[in-house]
Amino acid sequence: MSELASESSAQRELASESSAQRGEAIAVSGLRKSYGDHLVLDGIELHVPRGTVFSLLGANGAGKTTTVKILSTLIAADGGRVAVAGHDVATDPDAVRAAIGVTGQFSAVDNLLTGQENLQLMTDLHHLGRAAGRARVAELLRRFDLVDAATKPASTYSGGMRRRLDLAMTLVGSPQVIFLDEPTTGLDPRSRRSMWQIVRELVAGGVTIFLTTQYLEEADELADRIAVLDHGRIVAEGTPDELKRRIPGGHVLLRFATLADLESATRAVGHASRDGDALELRVPHDGSLRSLKALLDRLDTDLVEVEQLSMHTPDLDDVFLALTERKVTAP
Ligand code: ATP
Repeated sequence: MSELASESSAQRELASESSAQRGEAIAVSGLRKSYGDHLVLDGIELHVPRGTVFSLLGANGAGKTTTVKILSTLIAADGGRVAVAGHDVATDPDAVRAAIGVTGQFSAVDNLLTGQENLQLMTDLHHLGRAAGRARVAELLRRFDLVDAATKPASTYSGGMRRRLDLAMTLVGSPQVIFLDEPTTGLDPRSRRSMWQIVRELVAGGVTIFLTTQYLEEADELADRIAVLDHGRIVAEGTPDELKRRIPGGHVLLRFATLADLESATRAVGHASRDGDALELRVPHDGSLRSLKALLDRLDTDLVEVEQLSMHTPDLDDVFLALTERKVTAP
């Protein structure tokens, strides 16, 4: 290896270690990837704290799977730095692989084997040893509610059972970081909720989840932070609430007991739309605590009695459309 190459590899190791010291499970900077002359990732920046759920959103073809493939060492990047669990994916891919689990659209479940046999296969692959392997299989079958189905072939499992088995198989290696690629696509609402509960329990146990999903409701439920990928760039990043506040449409709805109260409130608030029949006032609002307090202070100063107050924020669908539409329609 040339001096220059080994120096840059040492620098990479240092950068990975310092990201791990900052408590980051995933640190990505300047990530670039093209397929031929098609630029897919154009300098991506991502920082995922340990023990959190991070969701990457993007329209079909935005580059989500490409990002997951690079982060999980399946393909190489053209440029930039990627550290996962404190290891550089380019210089230390084996250490990254030992620290991660990947589950999703392409399940690792073998249909001809039973749930128990699938899990045993994983404990053998991880060289857990006979007794420890058996104990781990029993624990995972219990935890994932698969005890009754343990001796049935996986081909007879429902979609939800199969996803649970797939995730249980990933957990045999006790990964620190799990890439969940569309974990609930095609599942019924009950199975989806049970999967969400499992994800929450994993995170409570310190695991970091990198989630891609086509259900924005799922990102809203699970993710601590969300990044929106569009045309190879991260166009927005923040908590679900921060993202919702970035687009217009949020408002506070005030309901009053009498028309007199409604009229006093209209004078006190100024810019608002009122519905005299429903005795309601709709006040545009950015969702922040500070402007809510300012609004309540104004009503309080004018001694206006509010019967009911509710806040309405745009949902992630609105955010996603607002953030990605502009670029799609741009010339
Ligand atoms: P989806 O939600 O549809 O899975 P995605 O956001 O995961 O989309 P990618 O699969 O990462 O998107 O693909 C990003 C772009 O790169 C697409 O235009 C895709 O056609 C292209 N692409 C992906 N893999 C390859 C490949 N092996 N060779 C050439 N082009 C590719």
